[in-house]
Amino acid sequence: MDPEATAPTEHEEVGSIWRRGSGLQAIVAIHSKALGPALGGTRFRPYSTFGEAMGDVLRLSKAMSYKAAMAGLDFGGGKAVIIGDPAVTKTEALLIDYARFLDTFEGRYLTAEDVGTSQADMDLLGEHTEFVTGRSASSGGSGDPSPLTAYGVVRAMEAAAQALWGSPSLAGRHVAINGVGKVGRTLAVLCSERGARLSTADVSSAAIARVRLDVGTEVAVVEPDAIHRVDCDLYAPCALGGGLNGETVPELACEAVCGAANNQLETPAVEVALRSRGITYVPDYVANAGGIINIAYERGGYDPDAAREHVGRIFDTTSRLFEESARSGELLGVIADRLAEARIAGAARP
Ligand code: NAD
Repeated sequence: MDPEATAPTEHEEVGSIWRRGSGLQAIVAIHSKALGPALGGTRFRPYSTFGEAMGDVLRLSKAMSYKAAMAGLDFGGGKAVIIGDPAVTKTEALLIDYARFLDTFEGRYLTAEDVGTSQADMDLLGEHTEFVTGRSASSGGSGDPSPLTAYGVVRAMEAAAQALWGSPSLAGRHVAINGVGKVGRTLAVLCSERGARLSTADVSSAAIARVRLDVGTEVAVVEPDAIHRVDCDLYAPCALGGGLNGETVPELACEAVCGAANNQLETPAVEVALRSRGITYVPDYVANAGGIINIAYERGGYDPDAAREHVGRIFDTTSRLFEESARSGELLGVIADRLAEARIAGAARP
């Protein structure tokens, strides 16, 4: 999604704060509360301008509305950004000021971990505000969501396999994973357990060493700038967003893309380019909803089995997109957007 395309008028509420003492500069964007309180993480990044941060938070909060709607959650979409380099400016005083800022939304926005924030940060925020999710298990939260995010991606892959090759089995399939951090590493383990062959890439040699330890040395390792060219069945972007673009799409050699990274398409038009190359794209926000489903289950007392069962249903959601696409000829992303918008609009009706 292009930030320019997301007019602020689509959003219900946007608030920002500046505190000279702690240096906190943050924006909270609530895209929709039609389905429930707006849920989404806090991204802590050294944005170069306030406008860049605003564009990011508007785009990301809208995507969260769609993700929650497609995951069948009774949550709306929200997101927050804190402007600054977390390695330099993240202090306890700043996080306490941020917790007070979260209180001003009185529960209309619930935050969680995202790029640049950690579970320890959520634990600290949780000491000062009740409007935080994704705390560590020892603090009464649901812990690291990454394992369930990976489980959701593998369920989406199985649905893709069923639709494309007639069986959900990944045995003998070649999966190329770009980025083997918290999600990609677990995804590698889950694919390997299902008998898939793996190629992986990461800019971090420590991440590669860890995946080879977890999965075994038979994991092929490819340079990060070459992983998208690997001849494979499924390509799984699990590093940064925007990796599918005018440069990479002509070089892909997979049958389908299904991964965890948020905002994989540089623009929505990239899905059209993928189709013209015969490549099916499983919408990222459908495949990677496991993490948000997990934290949604914190409300009313965390139940890990119920959360896992719900995440497993990403198989059904993905299958439905494939079935609808076979009928209508539409792209999976177009169908997912329409279903999400219909659920939000239905709930918003008086
Ligand atoms: P992470 O930081 O643990 O892992 C990302 C990995 O990608 C790291 O090992 C990093 O070294 C590697 N990387 C960075 N740049 C790269 C590049 N150019 N080429 C190859 N590798 C590169 O993050 P994560 O929690 O595993 O999340 C991965 C992606 O999934 C992110 O886009 C995140 O927004 C998305 N996501 C994560 C969750 C979750 O539960 N953690 C939920 C939904 C979506």
